Amino acid sequence: MILVSGCLCGVNCKYNGGNNLDERVLKLLQEGKAMPICPEQLGGQATPRVAHEIIDGDGAMVLDGKARVLSPDKNDDATEEFLKGANEALNIAKSIGAEYAILKARSPSCGFGKIYDGTFSGNKKDGNGVAAELLYRNGIKIFTEETLEEFFSKENNK
Ligand code: SF4
Repeated sequence: MILVSGCLCGVNCKYNGGNNLDERVLKLLQEGKAMPICPEQLGGQATPRVAHEIIDGDGAMVLDGKARVLSPDKNDDATEEFLKGANEALNIAKSIGAEYAILKARSPSCGFGKIYDGTFSGNKKDGNGVAAELLYRNGIKIFTEETLEEFFSKENNK
């Protein structure tokens, strides 16, 4: 079973109440191969909600207590919810024996390799989202919708 970001399956769990539907990920769900999760909702965040980004760091630094997850005006600190959501995502991954996760690129929770840079301007920086980092630290191989072809070629060559 593959853990996938719910918004990639068309679930309206995005901060603005929308989704990031990717038909290739939805197909995996329809074939019974995927389990959708939304770390931000699992952490207790409402939908719709204020957008948050990782300020002065990445998911690894948030896990290590060295960076925070804040709203644009910096008044809303969602770090604890992001950490809870990451841990719940890991619990689900373990319970379904997930070897792979396909997560939403650039998100402060789900992004892998690159994430938004904390300026809420659409700019990116190197690093992983909080949930992606925790899953990665626990041995789950992570792809995003931008590296899906790599995932499919890996699967086809098994
Ligand atoms: S936390 Fe992940 S699954 Fe939830 S809306 Fe954001 S990118 Fe999608």
